[in-house]
Amino acid sequence: MTARVEQAVVSLGPGVDMPVLGFGTWQATGQKGYSAIRAALDVGYRHLDTATMYGNEAEVGRAIKDSGVPRDDVFVTTKLPPDRVGRAEETLAASLAALDTDYVDLWLIHWPPRGGESVPTWRAFVAARQAGHVRAIGVSNYSLAQIDELADATGAVPAVNQVPWGPTLHDLRTLVEHQSRGVVLEGYSPFQNTDLDTPLLVEIADAHQVSPAQVVLRWHLQHGIVVIPKSVTPQRIAANADVFDFELTDGEMARIDDLTE
Ligand code: NDP
Repeated sequence: MTARVEQAVVSLGPGVDMPVLGFGTWQATGQKGYSAIRAALDVGYRHLDTATMYGNEAEVGRAIKDSGVPRDDVFVTTKLPPDRVGRAEETLAASLAALDTDYVDLWLIHWPPRGGESVPTWRAFVAARQAGHVRAIGVSNYSLAQIDELADATGAVPAVNQVPWGPTLHDLRTLVEHQSRGVVLEGYSPFQNTDLDTPLLVEIADAHQVSPAQVVLRWHLQHGIVVIPKSVTPQRIAANADVFDFELTDGEMARIDDLTE
């Protein structure tokens, strides 16, 4: 299982491979957060999702160091909060210091800034990539129109858009529109947006002898959606990474798609 979660990646450009299953760290702070991140690295996750706003970049950095996993083997995402849009460079410097690293793999604008600040912020992101402080740049909680605005103004297409996703939020058109622009869709809050007791998910889980949570994660991956479940519970951390040894049928995928509200 460990090897599978490490090896399944999507390319964000030459030499930048993003593991399709990552570990979410929102609300995973302090010792509990540190232990959860260590547990995630121990069971094979090689993609950690943090943010300036989460207040746990130091825990992420320390967990990577203590794990013994080489820094280059871990894909680290962090995000610029909306209240720091005029201070992107110094905020990134603070992130790098807290993470105790020279670079992050992916830097996201956490939310679209208000008042025409999106394009200037994006220019700062492009500059950070050119300077080698970040390997790839993207956005979060952006609409397709907001993504197009950035691409039209700068010629630089966001590598990723991180948005809430799950069976009830599934929208094939939005997914295809991202893919046609070359933007990787990364889904967040896979469980917050899903009732894991939904009879269909239970039925499909039973058929594969897995849990409904694993079905939900597998469904994301088979749609080509990067997914970043969070847990501070060791058993769940391991189970959520164990989604590479079964495959949903086309019929099962379609029935889960129909849970869209
Ligand atoms: P998730 O959808 O990952 O759900 C987390 C909750 O589900 C926790 O309560 C966790 O409990 C529980 N859980 C985890 N695994 C299982 C399981 N196998 N069975 C049952 N319950 C389970 O929520 P998040 O909102 O944290 O989203 C994931 C990540 O996405 C975040 O951590 C963050 O990195 C990112 N995110 C990004 C946002 C953005 O604006 N860009 C916004 C929100 C999230 P427990 O921890 O107690 O085990």
